[in-house]
Amino acid sequence: MKRPKILIIYTGGTIGMIKNEKGVLLPFSLENLLNDIPLLKDYPADINSLGLDKLIDSSDADTDFWLLLNKIITDNYDKFDGFVILHGSDTMAYTASALSFLLENLSKPVILTGSQLPIGLLRTDGRENIIASIELACMHKNGVPLIQEVCIYFEDNLYRGNRTNKFSAENFDAFISPNFPLLAHVGTEIKVFEENFLKSSIDFLISHNELCNEVAIIKLFPGIQVKTIKAITEIIGLKGIILETYGSGNAPTDKEIINCFEEAISKGITILNITQCTVGKVQQGKYETSTKLRDIGIVSGGDMTTEAALAKLMFLLAKNYSLKELTKLLTISIRGEMS
Ligand code: ASP
Repeated sequence: MKRPKILIIYTGGTIGMIKNEKGVLLPFSLENLLNDIPLLKDYPADINSLGLDKLIDSSDADTDFWLLLNKIITDNYDKFDGFVILHGSDTMAYTASALSFLLENLSKPVILTGSQLPIGLLRTDGRENIIASIELACMHKNGVPLIQEVCIYFEDNLYRGNRTNKFSAENFDAFISPNFPLLAHVGTEIKVFEENFLKSSIDFLISHNELCNEVAIIKLFPGIQVKTIKAITEIIGLKGIILETYGSGNAPTDKEIINCFEEAISKGITILNITQCTVGKVQQGKYETSTKLRDIGIVSGGDMTTEAALAKLMFLLAKNYSLKELTKLLTISIRGEMS
């Protein structure tokens, strides 16, 4: 088999950071980062790398940053067999979700990874994360890449990116995929769970380059005031809201609150119901406290993570679909993001 060609895209994040004179961690150069893994030079793959002009802590990620990553992958798609993105862990699940929607029909792996400790530290988790991500990105079967989707690799596990969220600010295993099984586990051997993989049906990439960020997230809490909800639902130009509800999609039955949502929907704002629970799904109509939400036209987000739901809403709202089409696409899996 020919040597796989892998492109490493360095965006910033803890993995490549060093401390400044005040002891604050800041992104540093790609060269510095790669020098810390000398073994990469002997790795049996053609590894190219590029660093963004502006390296960021992933807290500074925005839709322009996602579109830039999308463009880099699209422009280089035919030249490489796989892509490894070095990215801060804080918003990695959002970026993975956004890329999963922007890159339709992927037939090559796009693996995001990073670390909890910078690569320059002895106890870093970064070195293993990069090397395992490259190894996974190089895997082939019958001459084609085995992994054909956007993933996150962190501390021994490969996850479908749009199923993850960052749950720990201190564990090396910082991510979970609460409603979808692992894609691979890396121990002394790499175990891949092919039955969980997405497979592209056609072999050409459809790259989308628009996202709508006229969206907001409302997280319900006991005692939330109508004026707080209104301050969001009345934002001029707003097109979509992720409503983070309780349990299986429940919200207060207070008439004024329901009216706020109903008015927003009548103005053309799409509201997507996502549960605040980590595990499980929204089932509007199971309780009286969610029946009204369904009746006024709030859309059920099933078991999507907030990260995937937000990215999906941004992606679909940019397409100017009719309400019927938009509602349908929100409630079915288009990139393996919901069960
Ligand atoms: N603040 C860092 C970032 O997300 C944390 C990390 O890389 O793990 O860029």
